[in-house]
Amino acid sequence: MFCNQCEQSFRGTGCVDRIGVCGKDEDVQSLQEMILYGLKGMAAYANHARRLGKTDPEVSAFIEDALFATMTNVNFDLASLFDMAMELGRMNLRVMEMLDTGHVEAFGKPQPTEVYEGTHAGPGILITGHDLVDLWDLLRQVEGTDIKVYTHGEMLPAHMYPKLAQHSNMGGHYGTAWQDQRRQFEGFSGPIVATTNCILIPPPSYANRLFTVRWVAVPGGQRLKGNDLSPVIAMAKQCPPLPEKFVKHSTVGFHRGVLLDNARTIVDAVKAGKISRFYVIGGCDGAEPGRNYFSDYAQSTAGDSFILTLGCGKYRIREHDYGTHLGFPRLMDMGQCNDAYGAIAVAAALAKAFDCSVNELPLTLVISWFEQKAVAVLLTLLSLGIKGITLGPNPPAFVTPGVFQILQEKFDLKLTPTQGRSHSGSIRLPVAQN
Ligand code: SF4
Ligand code: SF4
Repeated sequence: MFCNQCEQSFRGTGCVDRIGVCGKDEDVQSLQEMILYGLKGMAAYANHARRLGKTDPEVSAFIEDALFATMTNVNFDLASLFDMAMELGRMNLRVMEMLDTGHVEAFGKPQPTEVYEGTHAGPGILITGHDLVDLWDLLRQVEGTDIKVYTHGEMLPAHMYPKLAQHSNMGGHYGTAWQDQRRQFEGFSGPIVATTNCILIPPPSYANRLFTVRWVAVPGGQRLKGNDLSPVIAMAKQCPPLPEKFVKHSTVGFHRGVLLDNARTIVDAVKAGKISRFYVIGGCDGAEPGRNYFSDYAQSTAGDSFILTLGCGKYRIREHDYGTHLGFPRLMDMGQCNDAYGAIAVAAALAKAFDCSVNELPLTLVISWFEQKAVAVLLTLLSLGIKGITLGPNPPAFVTPGVFQILQEKFDLKLTPTQGRSHSGSIRLPVAQN
């Protein structure tokens, strides 16, 4: 364990043994960290939802309670902290639901949409991160100019919302996941707006073209504190124009609403034995080689199954052609990582239709994690009692073997094969489990 949050901290540097000076043991510390990290992820979603006018006092009260439980000399009890972590998962479901509703109310009902990937000749602005309100602000502020706005990374699902996709200044999508941004931002001649995580510290080659908003800030970049994006637009007019460069067309927009509209067809097909399994493969992407596990896993799924994906983990699997089945693409992009809410809603609807539990559905979840939003989403899935999730590519460093054992016993949580450290959990080979 490592804890340095109070004055008693061992030798003034930190309690690092199995038990701290106050008596807190490593498993209690592990659960408190899990709660703190889950809260951070939930706060990010709640922040996006608040900007769409969606708040819930119960969520705010819970955040205070949960933070309080992690203070020095408040809680040394594993069971109650575990309950708190599960409550966090339930609260995060509420937050993701608010965000989903906020997006749909603000930008229209999502629909499958073909996206132009590449650039058009002329001036352009690239926008990355998760905040669709920033994208909307930018589109409105460039109206009347010939500047095109391109989405990057987790902004790709913006194209499923009619109001955003059909805006005359929307140019298309450029690039892939966050870890590729240095190379991709260097190759984009216009200004770049980073709205949330996951932003990397920029090299000098494009730092002067990188704008961040509100509390997002990096050395060398220019932070805009409000919603006035005129410095970005002024720079777009000065920068060398983008080339006409078509990369491909792709399809996004299999939001929960689209899938639920087709629920009857899907249920009938499962009952008739025409769909062998649903896979949710997604979450975060990252640079580690172990993430090829997710690509290999997706490609090993049967031709009569469907893969639902979300988050930037989609970039790990979307280059492969999975074909179609029953008139639907086998790979369906549900949206951003917060659209895990949609995957849960679809699973719940299927369970209801089959009069069974989610765990009895032909459903497999293979989740890639990177940062704290994924911790919140994982706690949501566990709080709903969903078992057998495979998590990777590395186990969270803040989860001790003792806490992992609890998660394994209660939820049959599994780890992907890892290159480096791993907990003593059961390991699955990169072959789709049917
Ligand atoms: S809270 Fe406990 S474990 Fe943490 S620094 Fe203080 S004495 Fe050490
Ligand atoms: S899905 Fe996770 S890793 Fe990817 S951009 Fe979003 S927060 Fe970052």
